[in-house]
Amino acid sequence: MLLIHPDDAWERLNPCEINARHIFSLPGIRCPKCRVTWATTGVAYPTVSPDVVKHQCAGIPTGRPMSPEQFYAVAHGISQVIGDQYPIYPGTDFGALQGKRKGVISDFVWLNPWTPLIHKSAFDQVVKKGLQFKTATALLDAPIGDVLEIEAIPSVALHPKCLAIAKSEVCSTCGRKAYQMPDQIVLDGGTIPQDQIIMRIREFPTLLVVSNITGQVLTEMKFDNFTLTEVETAE
Ligand SMILES: [Zn+2]
Repeated sequence: MLLIHPDDAWERLNPCEINARHIFSLPGIRCPKCRVTWATTGVAYPTVSPDVVKHQCAGIPTGRPMSPEQFYAVAHGISQVIGDQYPIYPGTDFGALQGKRKGVISDFVWLNPWTPLIHKSAFDQVVKKGLQFKTATALLDAPIGDVLEIEAIPSVALHPKCLAIAKSEVCSTCGRKAYQMPDQIVLDGGTIPQDQIIMRIREFPTLLVVSNITGQVLTEMKFDNFTLTEVETAE
């Protein structure tokens, strides 16, 4: 498996500014027990209709963190509709990206280091190679439709031996887990989904992982603006 990141050197030479946000974001949690107000960064489901989520949030004041009870009720309601293959975190984004762009649109474009977009022409080439990213059209300035956001689900877990190194504190009321980034990331091979070609690490959703085959195809295509780093897997 491989971690995938933007190519910082390439971006410095070919700047592209995207100022956009997803249509709807779940609020964070304010916990009365651990007294922390928190949300998880990096989780976005651009293919999920924000209307579904807004419906589940009806009656909850906007712009303010939820209580743990409100969050669990909303998350349960969303999962009932969209399925539990999409883990719901406080702060999860839904719906397409909307905004503006300025500069060069390369094969890969990054809203930030954890939100990958792909140019339609690159996407079409990848599809011809038999890889199917799940994507949603990013609603940026014209021409609309030439940039797609790649959806990646937090599905792969860190291996327990890696988590043992990470000091975790878990709040029993709000579920907050304060993981420390391990020195060396090791993935739990048993959690790697066979039907996803790009995914996030559950404990650190800002980290994106692709399968070796996906990495090989992207490298062979010589696409701009991505780098790959090998990551260990253990059973
Ligand atoms: Zn808490």
